[in-house]
Amino acid sequence: MTILGSGSSVPTANRNSAAQVLNVLERYFLVDCAEATQHQLRRFHVPYNKINHIFISHLHGDHFFGLIGFLSTLSLQGRRGEMHIYADARLQDLLEGQMKIMHSRFVFPVIFHALSRQEEVIYEDRVVTVTSFPLKHRYEAPVCGFLFREKERERTIRKDMVTAWNVPVAFMQYLKMGEDYITPEGEIISNQRLTVAPPPSRSYAYLTDTLYRERFADYVQGVDLLYHEATYGKEDEALAKETFHSTAEQAARLAQAAGVKKLLLGHFSARYADPAVLLPEAQAVFPATFICSDGDVFEVPAQKRWSN
Ligand SMILES: [Zn+2]
Repeated sequence: MTILGSGSSVPTANRNSAAQVLNVLERYFLVDCAEATQHQLRRFHVPYNKINHIFISHLHGDHFFGLIGFLSTLSLQGRRGEMHIYADARLQDLLEGQMKIMHSRFVFPVIFHALSRQEEVIYEDRVVTVTSFPLKHRYEAPVCGFLFREKERERTIRKDMVTAWNVPVAFMQYLKMGEDYITPEGEIISNQRLTVAPPPSRSYAYLTDTLYRERFADYVQGVDLLYHEATYGKEDEALAKETFHSTAEQAARLAQAAGVKKLLLGHFSARYADPAVLLPEAQAVFPATFICSDGDVFEVPAQKRWSN
């Protein structure tokens, strides 16, 4: 996952506004698209032609002003493949209105998917599932967080062992799903002897602009990596409440309540020349907290399993 923008509404010389790109086994998902996101994609060497899915949490400028520019560039470059956009339904009118006024059109299909106020699966393929969930922000339409979760992979057959036990080819599919093999003589050969466990599936959640609500922890239980907005520090908790944002400490409380493995803070107010000042207050609650900067790349590691 590459951070393209770690700041909030006002970009600074070092911090662009919200955007990040997630690479799940060479599927590239763009999450939010602030102004100049296309510059950031180039700057940080992201193969942006591979982005086929864009998720926009809500239509505040610092989360989507870069979309028209990015899509226009792709159009100029002759992109052909479909682009799927998951956002507030009104984004379609907005973008199409802009294009109409410019007497222009995208040369590739743009397919809009409206976000709802319900927790729901909005994208799924063979490898990954994306779920959106509603948050609480100063915005009349749904404001959504996103959860990316890899699917469980099949077990890998151990060729030497299946040969040794003469397992029929027709049974291989059951082995991959974890079943034990019973020989014609009635002997049970445990699945663990015949297969190797796949790498554990990984998960990542993006929790955008929101008031702190402990119940939001339910959406992101146990994820490997949680990105949470931390616009303000503890001394500005009243301001955070007034502007429907969270503090670093609140983000840490949510991470703790959800039992996530690691917490990443971003969406910092431009008032912090160095948002590292927010780190101690978060780490006091949730030690595995990290601050992100534009261009940072975070790996979501697979957790070790008990067996294999
Ligand atoms: Zn924002």
